[in-house]
Amino acid sequence: MSKFLTEKINKLTPYVPGEQPKERKYIKLNTNESPFPPSNLAIEMAEESAKKLMLYPDPDCKQVTCAIAEKLGVDASQVIVTNGSDEVLNFAFMAYCDQNNPAIFPDITYGFYKVFAEVNGVPYKEIPLKDDFTIDINDYLNEKGVIFIANPNAPTGIDLGVSAIEKLIAVNPDRIVVVDEAYVDFGGESVVPLINKYDNLLVTQTFSKSRSMAGARLGFGVASKCLINDLMRIKYSTNPYNVNSMTASAGYGAIKDDKYFINNCKEIIKNRDYTASELKKLGFTLTDSSTNFIFAKSDKIGGEKLYKTLKENGILVRHFSKERISNYIRITIGSIEEMQTFIQTVKTILEA
Ligand code: PMP
Repeated sequence: MSKFLTEKINKLTPYVPGEQPKERKYIKLNTNESPFPPSNLAIEMAEESAKKLMLYPDPDCKQVTCAIAEKLGVDASQVIVTNGSDEVLNFAFMAYCDQNNPAIFPDITYGFYKVFAEVNGVPYKEIPLKDDFTIDINDYLNEKGVIFIANPNAPTGIDLGVSAIEKLIAVNPDRIVVVDEAYVDFGGESVVPLINKYDNLLVTQTFSKSRSMAGARLGFGVASKCLINDLMRIKYSTNPYNVNSMTASAGYGAIKDDKYFINNCKEIIKNRDYTASELKKLGFTLTDSSTNFIFAKSDKIGGEKLYKTLKENGILVRHFSKERISNYIRITIGSIEEMQTFIQTVKTILEA
């Protein structure tokens, strides 16, 4: 670090993304990417768009914004598209959190929330999940600040359900609730329909997982027009061209190719069910996942040991050293062949 770095940045702990090693070919089950390529329509649209890269993109990203709005049954003025959903989440921290409005989120959730709070210099409070890793909504009802809930949660995969979240939103209209639905397409229940009822709700989603576009960086926020205007204010004060034209076009293609998206989600759910039942046969304890990953622990081998041994065997999963979950590994659901290899490898490790 240089001597010029501000204290705020100097003392924060940056987010550590999952490994993307290039030294050998791994079965990559560590960063919740899709095993399937983007839709052909998305690729064709991006290729077409590449021919116009000498021009700045449309800062309003009208085409993809309107397509998302139409798909969700909301107005285009209720949608903002961003550089991954990480960006819209950061916008929410910038727009709504300050010394009087701390960020509030579970102790076990998406690790970036803490980093967003730190980089924006705002206080945060972590509320422990229950012993079974579920969220107790009653713990949040009287909290003052901005609530961030990943639903389904990560890395637990557990879905909270719309009625609990609605309670959280309804109990205090003077408090913003941000619902991060990065994994909602794999069996969770979306709260998007509630945005017309509550103007203190912001929902975020991403093209990174269910639409196979993690590398393109495309996410979006859905909320009342008023909240979207707040976030636009941040966008136009930081980077009006936050979404590049190839990504915006690919996103449009992906939305239009809904059949491909639906089939891929079904395939992931099927592969998840297979993996979960095989892991249970091997004595693993699993949380109830509504996502494209499984959170599991074995009483025969520790989480870190299993992660390391799988890596030696060419399979990458994610391990978190945080105390409450250090015995668990998070396994992204890949193709059926990848999951069969994974199960076979786990069996061999446990028998060794
Ligand atoms: N929310 C959650 C819960 C996530 O796991 C991720 C992926 N790391 C994101 C948001 C951000 O995803 P992206 O920026 O790729 O849309």
